[in-house]
Amino acid sequence: MSELGKESAAIVLDCQDHGESDQIVTFYCRDIGRVTGIAKGAKRSQKRFVNKLELFSLLFIRYTEPRYGNLVFIVEAELLESFIRLRQSMSLYMVATVIRELTLAATRDLDGDDGFFSLLHWGLQALETGRPAMTVLALFQIKFFEQIGYRPDLSSCLRCNQPFGDLQGYGFDSRAGSIVCRCCQTERGQAPVLPLSQGTIKILASAQNQPLDRLHRLHLSGPGLHEALSLLYHYGRHLLQREICSLKLLSDAHWEG
Ligand SMILES: [Zn+2]
Repeated sequence: MSELGKESAAIVLDCQDHGESDQIVTFYCRDIGRVTGIAKGAKRSQKRFVNKLELFSLLFIRYTEPRYGNLVFIVEAELLESFIRLRQSMSLYMVATVIRELTLAATRDLDGDDGFFSLLHWGLQALETGRPAMTVLALFQIKFFEQIGYRPDLSSCLRCNQPFGDLQGYGFDSRAGSIVCRCCQTERGQAPVLPLSQGTIKILASAQNQPLDRLHRLHLSGPGLHEALSLLYHYGRHLLQREICSLKLLSDAHWEG
């Protein structure tokens, strides 16, 4: 007996061969979040799947829900966006890989969406349309942490609670996820902080408060970009309690982690 399939826009996060002809694919879907499914016959270049189940591709999938376990059955896929530029540039591909790895590390199957799909799509699209890749990475991460419930506090000092102001220097405590004012940085016995300029704090705070379609107005470059990427790297490593390998690779290539 055939079942009526469900449908969703979906971004391919992972794709692995399974047996002789099938593939196991992990998607991030609008509304329902991360989903892993089996695409029967996908390796035999069946028309339903050929050239579609590639990493990062935006698809429209039809699937049926699992009777047992979490694995859905993917009926067919339609290609909506292949992000071709991402595949032609090593640096863009590397940043997209970090976005993918962070998403896989922070989400679980069938755990709902809460806007994550939009953020993921924004990140890939921003890279595809030529936004500076490392700025996209920084802006993606600042939104990503908020999405998973760990918005860094850039509004007041962690230790004395004084609101952020223009008059003094700041650092970032990546364990606590908050800025620390200069006076409090010199206290004995406190964890060391990462340097963070006021300009960078303002841009990152602005990114936190802007919707995704306004992020293209924000620009990070030079030392500010370096500071932002460094704090986001350390904060992410602490939060996720693991090294994001693709990010480590990128950090070794671009800036001192
Ligand atoms: Zn303080």
